[in-house]
Amino acid sequence: MTKQTAMNDIFNYTNIGTRDPAEYLAALDALRWQKLRKQIRYVWGNEDYYRPRFLEVGISSPEDIKSLADFRRLPAFLDKTRHRESQEASLLRYGHPLGLHLTTAPEKAIHLAATSGTTGTPTFYVFSRKDLEITYAMLGRVFRVAGIRPGDTTFHAFGLSLWLAGITYLQALEAYGARPVAVGAEGGVPKILRYIEFTRPRALFATPSMVNQLIERAPDEIGKPVGTLGIEIIVVCGEPGGSQPVFRARTREHFGAQIFDMMGGAWHNATVTCDAEHSYGMHYMAEDYCFRYDLVDPETRAPLEIKDGAVGEAIHTALEYEAAPAFRNATGDIMRLSVGACPGCGHFGTRMEIVGRADDMLMVKGAKVYPAAIQKVVQEFLPRLSGELRIRLDAPPPKVNPPLKLAVEAGEGAPASEWPALEKALAQRVRELLAFRPTVVVLPFGSLPRSGAKTKLIEITTH
Ligand SMILES: [Zn+2]
Repeated sequence: MTKQTAMNDIFNYTNIGTRDPAEYLAALDALRWQKLRKQIRYVWGNEDYYRPRFLEVGISSPEDIKSLADFRRLPAFLDKTRHRESQEASLLRYGHPLGLHLTTAPEKAIHLAATSGTTGTPTFYVFSRKDLEITYAMLGRVFRVAGIRPGDTTFHAFGLSLWLAGITYLQALEAYGARPVAVGAEGGVPKILRYIEFTRPRALFATPSMVNQLIERAPDEIGKPVGTLGIEIIVVCGEPGGSQPVFRARTREHFGAQIFDMMGGAWHNATVTCDAEHSYGMHYMAEDYCFRYDLVDPETRAPLEIKDGAVGEAIHTALEYEAAPAFRNATGDIMRLSVGACPGCGHFGTRMEIVGRADDMLMVKGAKVYPAAIQKVVQEFLPRLSGELRIRLDAPPPKVNPPLKLAVEAGEGAPASEWPALEKALAQRVRELLAFRPTVVVLPFGSLPRSGAKTKLIEITTH
């Protein structure tokens, strides 16, 4: 790559020249610490929530935190539960739900997005004008990676709700100079297909399940397959399917489009996969504003060395966020960090893959194992296996009495004569990748109940 193209390369947005992973991380640390020194003083000013968090761990002044290492040794100050409690407390005390951790005047909070979670109570992401502008810039980098150009018509089939991918992404696309057609998932599949036909978008934004529905229903609804619609770019998010090789291959085949899986918008985070056959993790596109992989051991909570291949629970701190920022927010995501050149696209940088949730960690012979990691191995065996699985425990997690018992389902039409060999091959593959050998039983196709996207992978049977 010549110097000129490197300068224009969107992946090189930090302008850190080195391609040595350790030097690269050291340069990022210097950048983070420079911004964090200011941000620590800024959130210290929040007497309702953040200052008490400092005081209770013995920090009596922002100057007590002298280095990034000092900062990383602090415990988490926020998580989903405390976030909700903070919102409820501010509603009682101030009559608004923006949280006691709101670090700006309420009238400066001009945009809200939310996640509803499983309890139905929203947790809000609060944006000031400055927060929004940085968010638009970070998401704009993602749009550039996906090949979207200012002036492009894009089609928005994400739900137009409080969800970040709803209105927030829509506004980011407008700020970028694209022309989003905001029919939204609420419009329904027939209307979405007709409006795509009528508006000729170059890019489609939709969840993987919406993409699948468009593929299946286009011939009936508009009398032609989706491949004739001229869509060149598909950006998905919101469901785990977007990075799975089977989904990516099928979508490419039907649409003839490139496919990108993105995540971001929350507290200046922005990540995206490249359009490779397999997903090699999501490229970080917001290192200068977001410290999303301050990895800790999920049990001891001790900071882990940040290096290529590190796996731990991600603590998220936004480096210059203005309104109700993530500051040592425990995400609960177990993340694997990669540092180096991406095997998919060759671009150098950091990439992340979420391998599980801290709250569903299992301990097998002293090693940490995540159900999502087991699921990923099972998916390597598609279509010979259906992909459905259950981890059957005889006692509550995390400690597993070995061997771990794994029940999986044969693929539709996979002959029963092959099942014993599949059982052996899967056990061996888990041994290779996750360093323990489970006992595997293959069950007939359709024998494991489906209960939607959030099917519990763990079953506890007590005798
Ligand atoms: Zn890549």
